Amino acid sequence: MYTPDQADGQNATLDSAISASGDATVGTIYRVPPRCGMAVRVAAGQSIRVVNTHGTQVCDFWAFSAENLYEFLSMAHCHTELESVMPAIGDTLVSNRRRPIVSITHDDSPGVHDTVIACCDWPRYQRLGCVDYHDNCADNLRMALAAINLKAPHVPDPFNLWMNIPIAASGTIAWLPPQASAGNSVVMRAEMDLIAVMSACPQDVTPVNGRDCIPSELHFRVET
Ligand SMILES: [Zn+2]
Repeated sequence: MYTPDQADGQNATLDSAISASGDATVGTIYRVPPRCGMAVRVAAGQSIRVVNTHGTQVCDFWAFSAENLYEFLSMAHCHTELESVMPAIGDTLVSNRRRPIVSITHDDSPGVHDTVIACCDWPRYQRLGCVDYHDNCADNLRMALAAINLKAPHVPDPFNLWMNIPIAASGTIAWLPPQASAGNSVVMRAEMDLIAVMSACPQDVTPVNGRDCIPSELHFRVET
């Protein structure tokens, strides 16, 4: 029986926790390996900087309340709050309880991000024709939380940093490479104690991680 916390396969994410608790050393730069995910605790008032190291990589980003994993950053609720599908500097993003959870304080990329696409998962790759198990962001989320001894009670729709999904006036969408440059970063301030999870999306069938379809690494750090 399907349950949200159960990964369909596994990769190095399970052994890649930054610490047993998910606590970071403030100011230390951590690497999210290509195709993997990582979880980190961010206290209210601290910020997390996510770096698009090579400029071509999408980061599936989630935030959960550290007090209650059933409360999480919700894109659908953000659409209502922001009256936009494209969060920008100065915006405060909300949880599924409509409470502020992160605010965007910095973005030196062109600001093209996605809030409408579900994270990739094993069924998605099967529909794209993959036969053997394929790394995916849903399992990276599950494993990143498992690596700090937590269970994902749900796989929320992510904030897809740098994912370039233009929405035409007709309502159709397309999958295009990121518009970012190497070293671009997004900084989000935690509005509550939270657990952030980042997945260096392993999508290599569509060109969302660059025209060469080669997923790469990301970096991040917790800042005061
Ligand atoms: Zn993905």
